[in-house]
Amino acid sequence: MAEPVMVKCKCCHNEIERDTAYNPSPKMYYCNVECFQKKQQEKNKKKKKKVVDKDYEELMEILTNIYGSKMNNGVMGRQIRLLKDNYNFTCRGMILTLDYYQTILKKNINTNYFSFYGIIEGCYIDAKNYWLEKQKIKKAIEEYGFDDKTKKVKVVERSRNLKDKLKVEEF
Ligand SMILES: [Zn+2]
Repeated sequence: MAEPVMVKCKCCHNEIERDTAYNPSPKMYYCNVECFQKKQQEKNKKKKKKVVDKDYEELMEILTNIYGSKMNNGVMGRQIRLLKDNYNFTCRGMILTLDYYQTILKKNINTNYFSFYGIIEGCYIDAKNYWLEKQKIKKAIEEYGFDDKTKKVKVVERSRNLKDKLKVEEF
């Protein structure tokens, strides 16, 4: 009797018989449909993570530039995580908050380790409002233009939709 050909499950790595394995595409073997679905879910999770990581990497790069030799990736990483968990802040929002703190408030960042958390905690909402307002004005100028007589930005009914749309954007 011929020995059965053994293959490894792409999900749990158990040795399984090739002839009875779940085989949705060439050279892809799984114990069963459950293992296949589990693997697909893991793949999707990784994809989602990558999108988040891009902003995270940019934020870490900015922090490295600010903190220089005092930069500590572990400490910063924990602070970022806490800000996300405690307030649902995003990395993109934190980047914009740092920019707001430095270029709009014109403040210098104290480069001791704990300053980052406090700055974001204290300024995030102000920075977000500032950013949203700026976007709103920008859009209004683009879409409706200035009214020459009053020198004011015309706000029309459609701006409500605009506001709703902006809320879900980057912050
Ligand atoms: Zn398996």
